[in-house]
Amino acid sequence: MNIAQDCVVSLDYTLKNDAGETLDSSEGKQPLAYLHGHRNLIRGLEKALDGRSSGDSFEVSVDPEEGYGAHNPQLVQTVPRSAFEGIDDIQPGMRFQTGGEAGPMVVRVVEVSPEDVTIDGNHELADQTLNFSVTVMDVREATAQELEHGHVHAEGQDH
Ligand code: ZN
Repeated sequence: MNIAQDCVVSLDYTLKNDAGETLDSSEGKQPLAYLHGHRNLIRGLEKALDGRSSGDSFEVSVDPEEGYGAHNPQLVQTVPRSAFEGIDDIQPGMRFQTGGEAGPMVVRVVEVSPEDVTIDGNHELADQTLNFSVTVMDVREATAQELEHGHVHAEGQDH
C-alpha cells in the first residue's frame, strides 16, 4: 500500500548535515515507526514520504523552514551560575530541563564562565538543512486505538 493519511510507516533512515556528517541514523536499531499525517515527523520529511510504498529508497533535503525552524536568538540566555545550584560541574553540551512560562523546555549549555552560563533553548538542528536517506520498510493501516492516541503502538502494546 502507498503511504497516506493514517498509515503506520516503518523506515530506515540516515540524517546528514550539509558537511556530510551523520547526525542520526536508524542503522543498528529498530526502524523508526510513525503515524503518517499526525505531525509526528518534521513536515519536510513527511511530505517526501507521502505516496511512497514499501521498498522505496530516496533522498531528500529538508530546509530549516520545514525542519526544526530558524535559530531564535531570544532563546539564547545568559544566566548566573547560581541558577544551577547543586550542580558543580557545568560543561558546554550539557542539557537541562527548565520550567518556563511556555511549559517544560530542554536547554543546552553553550558557554560557561566563572559567573555565568549561556544556555540555548533552540533545537540543536535549528537552522540546518537536513539531508535524509530513507528506505521505506513497511506500510500498514493504523489500528483504531493508534488513531485515537495519535501515535504508533509497538506490536502487542496496549496502554
Ligand atoms: Zn497510545
